Amino acid sequence: MSPRNHHQFVFPDDSRYDDARQAWNLAADLRPAVVVLPTSVDDVVAAVEYAGERDLRIVVQGTGHGASVHAALDGTLLLNMRELCAVEIDVENRRARVEAGALWEDVVLPATEHGLTALHGSSPNVGIVGYSLGGGIGWLARAHGLSAESVLAVELVTADGTLVRADRTQNTDLFWALRGGGGGLGVVVAMEIARYAVEELVAGMLIWPWERSSEVLTRYAAWAQTAPSSVSTSARLLQIPPLPDIPEELRGRQIVVIDGAVLGSEGEANEILAPFRELGPEIDTFGPVPAAALIRLHMDPEPPMPGIGDGVMVDDLDAEAVAAIVGTAGPDTGSPLIMVELRQLGGALRERKPGAGVLGALDGSFAFYALGSPMGPGVGEAVEQRIVALKQALAPWSRGKPYLNFAEKRVAIGDAIGAEAFARLERVKASVDPDGRFRAGHLFAPATGTAAEGAVAA
Ligand SMILES: Cc1cc2nc3c(=O)[nH]c(=O)nc-3n(C[C@H](O)[C@H](O)[C@H](O)COP(=O)(O)OP(=O)(O)OC[C@H]3O[C@@H](n4cnc5c(N)ncnc54)[C@H](O)[C@@H]3O)c2cc1C
Repeated sequence: MSPRNHHQFVFPDDSRYDDARQAWNLAADLRPAVVVLPTSVDDVVAAVEYAGERDLRIVVQGTGHGASVHAALDGTLLLNMRELCAVEIDVENRRARVEAGALWEDVVLPATEHGLTALHGSSPNVGIVGYSLGGGIGWLARAHGLSAESVLAVELVTADGTLVRADRTQNTDLFWALRGGGGGLGVVVAMEIARYAVEELVAGMLIWPWERSSEVLTRYAAWAQTAPSSVSTSARLLQIPPLPDIPEELRGRQIVVIDGAVLGSEGEANEILAPFRELGPEIDTFGPVPAAALIRLHMDPEPPMPGIGDGVMVDDLDAEAVAAIVGTAGPDTGSPLIMVELRQLGGALRERKPGAGVLGALDGSFAFYALGSPMGPGVGEAVEQRIVALKQALAPWSRGKPYLNFAEKRVAIGDAIGAEAFARLERVKASVDPDGRFRAGHLFAPATGTAAEGAVAA
């Protein structure tokens, strides 16, 4: 059958093209030569062979939450995996097999009735595969590590159209390379991931008016240096848009928020959170919750939206660092940003375990991330400039090292994983994709050196 007649191949002259090329991030305007929406592994193989015959590059998309790193995609076949999304949960062996288009909520919500969860992040509808290929930090990360490290097996279609399985016993180099290097090695058609039993869990949010940003963030930065690994949190400055689906008490407000989860009893959580409660939050929702509650704790936007964001990892922060953040994007700065975030790292995220994948661990203290939405004339440029200003203001506390999932400007993968790991990753890439057919979101390039020197990549 000619692809022109095949309903899964969508060309620019097809009325379905705009829907098929659409990414979750509406600011990404992807215009590939053809989009393929596979519903089986055979379809994936057919698409890879088609691209090979016509010398097209291949970009794979789960949801397009990370799509802002792609250029227009000329001469590219976009594999949109959204229809290949089955999930099988194996309660007894505490694992799940998820196909490439599966979202976190597809696997987390059905399993929580068995007391099991997975290492999901803050958004229910980010793709499990894209998230895990880039690392993956969520509410259990400081206790259990990166999502990439919870991957047990990967099923991958390589550039020659072969389906291979990579796990701890077969294709072990490939298995190493697929855990945290950002992809670009083939089409992941499915992953097996570990599930985690959760007995006692306390989670919630603490909220203050953003006039108190300096005080709250200074306390947060100091607290984070000795916090136990049972707690994983985030601290954010938020300028919440006045949208109708936002709870009334938060709609249109400017606030400083600490949210997160403690794996432990309410008593343990109270002790851990005491330094923040001393600051008298206006809203305090921390309390015992079922594991399923974590998936919407952060109140991330779920419908597609246009976003311009970027991030970098930073080391321990002091009062001066907090002043740099608040003075650039806090009260009275005219900041156009919706969100400025510090995600707490450390704990298990800092420990590289034997047999770890290419990323293995994150050596920063926080993953810094800032976001705006280019709604209205000139807002996009203002957002871009403010994010660059923030990264510059934080340069003294940063080694410029990106965390791939929060880097929304294209960075060199070598800067995220280090020179030695990149050299090994290049050997794996040469073995499965010798012609460089697959494009990851980030640049498949060695460390630029800027990360180590602490320079800021705008
Ligand atoms: C609202 C929001 C909340 C987020 N929260 C978190 C969080 O809590 N923690 C965190 O770590 N990150 C978080 N992220 C970042 C997110 O993990 C990355 O954007 C991730 O890349 C998204 O994966 P995706 O598959 O949904 O997106 P996509 O843009 O579809 O995929 C990202 C990249 O992954 C690769 N890829 C995806 N699927 C495949 C496949 N089947 N085969 C081969 N390669 C593939 C491709 O290179 C693609 O460019 C968040 C992002 C947003 C927008």
